Amino acid sequence: MSVSQQIMEQTEQSVLHTYNRFPVVFDHGEGVHLYDAEGKEYLDFAAGIAVQALGYGNQAYNDALKAQIDKLIHTSNLYYHKPLEEAAAQIIRHTKMSRVFFTNSGAEAIEGAIKAAKKYAYTKNGGGQYEIVAMRQSFHGRTVGALSVTGNDHYQEPFQPLMAGVKFADFNDLDSVKEAVSDKTCAILMETVQGEGGIYPADPAFIKGVRALCDEKDILLILDEIQCGMGRTGYWFAHEAYGVDPDIMTCAKALGCGVPVGAFVLNEKAASKSLLPGDHGTTYGGNPLACAAVAKVFELFDEMDLVEHVRTTAPYLEQKLDDLVSRYDFLQTRRGMGFMQGVVVKGRPVSEIVKKALDNGLVILSAGSDVLRLVPPLIITPADIDEMISRLEAAF
Ligand SMILES: *Cc1c(COP(=O)(O)O)cnc(C)c1O
Repeated sequence: MSVSQQIMEQTEQSVLHTYNRFPVVFDHGEGVHLYDAEGKEYLDFAAGIAVQALGYGNQAYNDALKAQIDKLIHTSNLYYHKPLEEAAAQIIRHTKMSRVFFTNSGAEAIEGAIKAAKKYAYTKNGGGQYEIVAMRQSFHGRTVGALSVTGNDHYQEPFQPLMAGVKFADFNDLDSVKEAVSDKTCAILMETVQGEGGIYPADPAFIKGVRALCDEKDILLILDEIQCGMGRTGYWFAHEAYGVDPDIMTCAKALGCGVPVGAFVLNEKAASKSLLPGDHGTTYGGNPLACAAVAKVFELFDEMDLVEHVRTTAPYLEQKLDDLVSRYDFLQTRRGMGFMQGVVVKGRPVSEIVKKALDNGLVILSAGSDVLRLVPPLIITPADIDEMISRLEAAF
């Protein structure tokens, strides 16, 4: 039995079976490549689900984490530490927002954003304005609150009843949002670019219309940028592409480039009338190790001009994918922004293509029921894109 087979069999004996994992054991990574326990090389266009924006083995990033581990890993939020100040300042510097709360995951960032929105309405006019309007086909995480605003019946059904007061509207359909909004609505929540649901960017008129609706009714706009944020679309955060600012934004995934960390980030209006001492907390959230990672990630993105790299390289990726779509009958269309791209597949199971790609040394993802999803490390070059296309065609 190979080393990999042994690890896989033993894992299945003790880890709760909530994932049908692909039969590969990853051992280490370098740049945009992963290596399995037998030493086979893979080109990675999944980045651990849009997390490893810097790829693998970035020496400056690794050194910063190692140095922080030797200094201080954890303190709790009862005390100050410098990485917290630095990480929060970096987020503020790169957005128009004014306050940050660090969490350990994306789902927890959503939980915090929901609480902040409810507290904002409560501060303004007491109880009663608690409803959240969220979108169908969305994804916001697996905790009970985040699941309650995730527009996916299959994910929700076994866990009903979930959080009360959630109404669903259709993404990119402003009328359906207007219908769902009432005088009980405290927030509208959506991804700027829907990820898990199948890579659907917001229509400019839609997101601008939602912003105007929120302004008119003093409802908070929560934009989930957990997957589409951190440079992935060729903007630091995807909403910049639309000229629309959220009241609260959620981040995670690439925020720590591998260290588990998320954040919800508030503008002055939302921050000044929402969560106060005693309203929210976390033991680990924003600990020195996580914050050292966040601060270094921003520093390296700036040094490497990574967001600009995405913006200038994305047209090449789009052109190559469009070319692929035109050459294969079972590929229908491409959609996405920057390095967040989906290719719609018809008449073939997407999961089979993902599996075949893996056999051919290419790591990619699916999204929705029929979309091939590409969310590579942001450091990929045109040569990596060529290699991806060649391995994907081998899989076809
Ligand atoms: C991944 C994701 C989440 C959940 O993040 P976790 O860290 O898995 O809890 C929430 N929203 C979006 C848009 C995501 O892509």
